Amino acid sequence: MDLQQPVDRVTLLPIPVPLPVRTTNCYAIDTGEGFILIDAGMDTPMARDAWRTYLSHLNITRGRARCLFVTHFHPDHLGLAHWLQDELDVPVAMMAGEVETAQHYLIESPQDAEFLREFYIAQGVPEAIIREWHALDVAFKATLRLPSEWRLMNHGDTTHMGRFHLRFLEQHGHTQHQGLLYWPDHHILFTGDQVLARITPNVSLWPGHDVNPLESYIESLTQLQSLGHTLGLPAHETLIPDVSQRIQEILAHHAARNQRLLSILSQTPLTGYELTHQLFPRPLDLYQERFALGETLAHVVYLERLGRVHAIHDGPVTRYALRSEDQ
Ligand SMILES: [Zn+2]
Repeated sequence: MDLQQPVDRVTLLPIPVPLPVRTTNCYAIDTGEGFILIDAGMDTPMARDAWRTYLSHLNITRGRARCLFVTHFHPDHLGLAHWLQDELDVPVAMMAGEVETAQHYLIESPQDAEFLREFYIAQGVPEAIIREWHALDVAFKATLRLPSEWRLMNHGDTTHMGRFHLRFLEQHGHTQHQGLLYWPDHHILFTGDQVLARITPNVSLWPGHDVNPLESYIESLTQLQSLGHTLGLPAHETLIPDVSQRIQEILAHHAARNQRLLSILSQTPLTGYELTHQLFPRPLDLYQERFALGETLAHVVYLERLGRVHAIHDGPVTRYALRSEDQ
């Protein structure tokens, strides 16, 4: 089997996912004192088969993995953690705040559904689409299982195994408490979904979570830049030869999108939903449309906090307009 070893003793395990990215990059670090695994992939029969093949190839049997670290709670990363925990008898680690998000996410209360409905109505989303999004949520939550036990990590925690001295870094914006693993001796960073080589990671406003996720994301990336020249081992796509250079491109992308949004709003005030379809004019499926709205609103609240945009409340619906000095 021809598995990529981006760094000595670190093997990249491409786990298939039924998403446009096609695979989640999981990693197995052979520390010499047992394996550290990073991310689990989505819980599908194909992904389980892939894991079985890789585990047997690397001879990772029960008890030989010392830790499975999951970068964030999204199902293409956390989905199979409960299964690997059982198969390998391995502790599952995730940032403490991210564990809370995962647990909260799976609790479905009627109040949450009503709160979301009112939020989307205020953004001008048609009722029929709100109902379809809700049905997706319900179906989706029914498929996600969490590990039975957790090891809770915090920003700055370290782990030492063999010659691997790794530090956990908490980053915000893509999810509220994504965890990255940094290996300072060799300037290597497991970036999760926080920094990807080609895709710009989604930064969405989710009602009831971070009130300004784009600001959080930009602040987090700016902190990462202080690591200097670093090789990025991301959770999707190809390796990132220079993380800080890629961060500059991502920051430029968000700055350009802010400008585009301001120029659209300079024509006329719009609801969040109308603005989304102007920013993303291509046809969008239900998932994409929801992410596009989340991304648009992340930019709107960011510009609102900077005093560039303000909200006009018109009955149950909100429209966004430029502050007068921008017009
Ligand atoms: Zn992902």
